[in-house]
Amino acid sequence: MKKHNFYAGPSIMSQYTIKNTADAILDFAGTGLSLMEVSHRSKEFIAVMEEARALTKELLNVPEGYDVIFMGGGASLQFCMAPYNLLEKKAAYLDTGTWASNAIKEAKLFGEVDVVASSKESNYNFIPKNYEVPSDADYFHFTSNNTIFGTQIKNDPDVNVPLVSDMSSDIFSRPIDVSKYDLIYAGAQKNLAPAGVTIIIAKIDALGKVSRQIPTMLDYRTHIKKESMFNTPPCVSVYAALQTLRYYKQLGGIEAIQKLNEAKATLLYNEIDRNKLFKGTAAVEDRSVMNVCFVMNDEYKDLEDEFAKFATSKGMVGIKGHRSVGGFRASIYNAMKIESVQALVDVMKEFEKAH
Ligand SMILES: *Cc1c(COP(=O)(O)O)cnc(C)c1O
Repeated sequence: MKKHNFYAGPSIMSQYTIKNTADAILDFAGTGLSLMEVSHRSKEFIAVMEEARALTKELLNVPEGYDVIFMGGGASLQFCMAPYNLLEKKAAYLDTGTWASNAIKEAKLFGEVDVVASSKESNYNFIPKNYEVPSDADYFHFTSNNTIFGTQIKNDPDVNVPLVSDMSSDIFSRPIDVSKYDLIYAGAQKNLAPAGVTIIIAKIDALGKVSRQIPTMLDYRTHIKKESMFNTPPCVSVYAALQTLRYYKQLGGIEAIQKLNEAKATLLYNEIDRNKLFKGTAAVEDRSVMNVCFVMNDEYKDLEDEFAKFATSKGMVGIKGHRSVGGFRASIYNAMKIESVQALVDVMKEFEKAH
């Protein structure tokens, strides 16, 4: 039976990425050696890193004055690395979920943190609007897509300080205006590659302004200067990331991908709204195009386990909701085909008929 992978992360990857990476694990670039056993200083791997950085710049229209690096540590390391490098006195943060509040916690170790708004009181089911960002903040940090709660900030916010964003679960899903940002970071395991690598886009001029000392490994400038090869990068993950970037280019780039994503999300949200058994958990205007959260309608609550079993029996994988929301979450990242979303919709319809 065909499996449809709705895991939130690590999550679905394109067959193109999986197949090419598997091939390189057996024989990397005609070296007769595995990708896993070749020096990161070999000319073959240096070419991989260079192309991955260049393709990221091309796909996201990264302007002059910015650089792209790949490093380990996950998005969670960036929660401290961003303020380490950028927070001198005060930073503004938007609290839209678990990851946002984890980032806030770390930033407080480095300076004053102004949490400009929070949707915590309503279990993060919407994105606060009409907040005020103080003009003396060093930057404004937000999580563009709240993986756990299924809400998303779909446009680069208009504020009067530079932006810093955790884009772990929606990078490459829609165009962004990089020139508004001092820093963008994203763990790879949602929309790019296997876990182990984090992609970072940094504005070079924004760095080196804080008065504190920064450990070498945690200083973005170290990695920029060494072209993302200061220490051993997670080579297999970087190679897989390159395959995904090539695949994105073949699909027609980020605007084409955005159209596909919107079609998938519309298909699924329409079914959630139509089907008498289910309801969405996120405010309609803030619904994520990447992570679709839904629960059983109140009068059908007791059918939850039965639906989970039924969906599993039909090949749906990973749709159990995060414990902080409950119910279901279908993650429909870039690599997911609309056929798989249709398969889930069909399962929802079939289950409705039986009840
Ligand atoms: C998954 C996720 C993280 C955590 O990433 P790690 O790489 O596990 O540290 C952080 N932020 C967001 C938005 C995520 O989706």
